[in-house]
Amino acid sequence: MNPHHESLFIGGRWVAPASDEKITVLGSSTEDVLGSVPAGNEKDIDVAVAAARAAFDDPDGWAAWQPARRANALCRLADALERRMEAITHAVSAQNGMTITLSEQVEGALPTTLLRYYADLIRDNPGEDVRDGMLGAPVHVRREPLGVVAAIVPWNAPQLLSATKYAPGLAAGCTFVLKPSPETVLDAVLFAEAVEEADLPPGVINIVPAGREVGAYLVSHPDVDKVAFTGSTAAGRQIAATCGSLLRPVTLELGGKSAAVILDDVDLNTAIAEPFFLATLLANGQACFASTRVLAPRSRYDEVVDAVASLVSGLTVGDPLDTRTQIGPMASARQRDRVEGYIEKGKTEGARLVVGGSRPTDLAKGFYVTPTVFADVDNSQTIAREEIFGPVLSVIAYTDEDDAVRIANDSEYGLGGSVWTDDDERGMRVARRIHTGTIGLNHYTVDPAAPFGGVKASGLGREFGPEALHNYQQIKSIYR
Ligand code: NAD
Repeated sequence: MNPHHESLFIGGRWVAPASDEKITVLGSSTEDVLGSVPAGNEKDIDVAVAAARAAFDDPDGWAAWQPARRANALCRLADALERRMEAITHAVSAQNGMTITLSEQVEGALPTTLLRYYADLIRDNPGEDVRDGMLGAPVHVRREPLGVVAAIVPWNAPQLLSATKYAPGLAAGCTFVLKPSPETVLDAVLFAEAVEEADLPPGVINIVPAGREVGAYLVSHPDVDKVAFTGSTAAGRQIAATCGSLLRPVTLELGGKSAAVILDDVDLNTAIAEPFFLATLLANGQACFASTRVLAPRSRYDEVVDAVASLVSGLTVGDPLDTRTQIGPMASARQRDRVEGYIEKGKTEGARLVVGGSRPTDLAKGFYVTPTVFADVDNSQTIAREEIFGPVLSVIAYTDEDDAVRIANDSEYGLGGSVWTDDDERGMRVARRIHTGTIGLNHYTVDPAAPFGGVKASGLGREFGPEALHNYQQIKSIYR
């Protein structure tokens, strides 16, 4: 396949972009050019929104289809994605450094699972129920599609984070303009090809890769009815402000600084193993929910630091396309610089560097950072407060259970988290006290059947589960 693309997928066709400008992507492990796509601009957004508007407003179109017909289309899209799974997962890993084993699960399999899940949820659901009113007459309560959705996604899990929006949104009857992040645009081309093959009506999904200014234009476009955003808290605040002034519904999945609370009863040999690695350093630390603040009981502090250091120093760092790799590179030079900046900050603010802190010496190319552990971190230090979005853990001491809960909750964010204990009931008790949208007991794995999202600066609203359908529906009561 030619990796240099000349057109944009808008209105069910490959169309010429408004300008000659390109987005060129570098391989995260090779630093070589992987390919390019047209850089969408405001004119492309106008065309894409018009196509989504026309598709939504068509009286016999997508929004008016019986749910079973839409469900069949969602399943066709899942099939078309499945046929491209290998190419998609390779494209994601080569661009953003996600290990191929993770990419296969998260970027390959999960979007198809979500499409089939929402197809099943709507297939036999008329979206309308009739209630006995209080005035002696029935009331019909309908869930109608919200309209044209602007979906804006980051680079760390571009296919999944698109699917968490379009799968429930398409099921509800909405139409989409999807704006991928400039770091991950090649997988978006493969997604567009799947949409084309699945024969969705023209304009139901339109894709315009572009940067943040064009994203901001899309958010404020007068013909957009709803915004679904995943990305940084800083961008989320700007988008929320725009949507607030327009009274436009918005869901925001933002940053995190979650805590892994290690209780004093834990058997460290079993706790600090694979599930702990996945909860803290998944996707090279480029995961929003990662438990990067490790809270350790003062009575066993040194033991915990040793166990975490031994796990992290034993990780295999390397080519994301090699199935043996556990930690791949950062997605870009900019992201590597950012992570290295935080490592320097950790050192100058007095944290003790135990493992890592530099670039791997055996990898000549690629945006790598050696997985890093800091000990003696105070929760007030920058590396404990700000989202690093890289493979850097901070081990923070606490005195007792109340102190652990206090420190876990002493954060601007509240997205993920985990509790590690041999006593399930005790773990549940602590988990209930932590202010967060999601939390795991002795592991952290997002279950798509349950709502996922954050509290405080981690966002507004939830994705996944039946709850996510409601993000894309408007409720109407008809009094008979
Ligand atoms: P980012 O906010 O810089 O960019 C995300 C996307 O938004 C990109 O497509 C970008 O072009 C666009 N964008 C940026 N500013 C915008 C604006 N003002 N208006 C409209 N669009 C705008 O984030 P990033 O660096 O690409 O991604 C990393 C961030 O995403 C981290 O903070 C991470 O925690 C967060 N994230 C959150 C979740 C979640 O589910 N809560 C999941 C993954 C990533």
